[in-house]
Amino acid sequence: MARKSEYANEYVHILKTDKNCFKAALNFCEGYKDFMDSSKTERECVKTIIELVESKGYKAFNKNAKSLKAGTKLYVNNRGKSIVLITIGKESLDKGVNFVISHIDSPRLDLKPNPVYESDEIAYFKTHYYGGIKKYQWPTVPLSMHGRIFREDGSFVDISIGEKDDEPKFIITDLLPHLAAEQEKRTLREGVKGEELNIVIGSIPMIDLDEEIKDAVKENTLKILYDSFKIKEKDFARAEIEFVPANKATDIGFDKSMIAAYGQDDKVCAYPALIAELENENPNKTSVAVFTDKEEIGSEGNTGMVSDYLFSIMEDLADIVGIKVRDCYRNSLCLSSDVNSAYDPTFADVFEKKNASYINRGVVLTKYTGHAGKSGSNDASAETMAKVIKLMDDRNVVWQIGELGKVDIGGGGTIAKYVSQRNIDTIDVGVAVLSMHSPYELTSKLDIYHTYLAYKAFLLND
Ligand code: MN
Ligand code: MN
Repeated sequence: MARKSEYANEYVHILKTDKNCFKAALNFCEGYKDFMDSSKTERECVKTIIELVESKGYKAFNKNAKSLKAGTKLYVNNRGKSIVLITIGKESLDKGVNFVISHIDSPRLDLKPNPVYESDEIAYFKTHYYGGIKKYQWPTVPLSMHGRIFREDGSFVDISIGEKDDEPKFIITDLLPHLAAEQEKRTLREGVKGEELNIVIGSIPMIDLDEEIKDAVKENTLKILYDSFKIKEKDFARAEIEFVPANKATDIGFDKSMIAAYGQDDKVCAYPALIAELENENPNKTSVAVFTDKEEIGSEGNTGMVSDYLFSIMEDLADIVGIKVRDCYRNSLCLSSDVNSAYDPTFADVFEKKNASYINRGVVLTKYTGHAGKSGSNDASAETMAKVIKLMDDRNVVWQIGELGKVDIGGGGTIAKYVSQRNIDTIDVGVAVLSMHSPYELTSKLDIYHTYLAYKAFLLND
């Protein structure tokens, strides 16, 4: 047996450190799988979260409140697409708050504003993909349709088709290998092009024996849409419709140690953050758990972290208790709760083994993201790393470090930089994911459980 070094550090499998947590991890992840199946889009996530927090005593925040009582639990729904949960602490807000910020949007296929067409007696939807996807992965995957569409009279309908067993699903076709000789000469990136991601939605024509109907399959499909939802073709211009994989979250492996699901980036962090926040009773420091939108396209828009929505809420809170919000920020700490790329032995070349994150080695502390010389990264300070590592170690949370691939091999970003630019110490902390941004991402249940423990430990930071 090799001598154990007194000086070296090794990141190891969670069960070598926390020997008895597998059962707790399995239990925790049953709730996670249910959450995933009921919350495929940011709108559905916000709905699920509001139902849950209202049942736990959270009240909609009133910015005209006269005071903030310690222990009070509040929520702010930002346009049905991002949500902020707050638990008021005993300490004054100017001593800082604990932010946990995850995102609830995921890569997917959005409908174009004029999406319906017919080609050779098949009806289709045109899509524009959202976020970074490998386009070749999306054909021949069963898809479900989600979103909101407004009618001419101002009313709207929320649509979810393809999640229940008795509902139809949708699909994108791919070329059979027999005829794909030319297609297979394309690069992987161009193997299936953006304008080829057309979703099949019908094949029965409307029949009229007296006169010929133009685009009769499209017409019949539109009639079904009208009969079902009272919507017409023009209404797609006032809609947000997302197509996502219809697959349910499922256990993977003989040992059931892993989960495959759509949208684990970043709901695999959002769910542990949600549960940790719900369980955060009477903290010293105020906790602010944010479930934000638009991260996958650069945190843009007024439901993403580029917007002031969170910082306006913080100003409202500061106004109520009569402190300066800038004092709050400079004393705050933020976990940007986002995923990292797990080391994949099959594609080992892109990882630097000593600094990659691995499944089953615990929650990942990502000092920096970015690309080519850390460009676009928050790059957490030594002080921030030290603070968070101490919080983890004090409560026996199993953690590892993580870097997004080898130097100069690629890169990425998170919401971290949009928080740190407010003068808030920020670090990325989340789950290692295999096949990230694919229709069926893979994670470890032990990691998910220890990420929940990490967020719980963090919210006790005072
Ligand atoms: Mn993410
Ligand atoms: Mn992502």
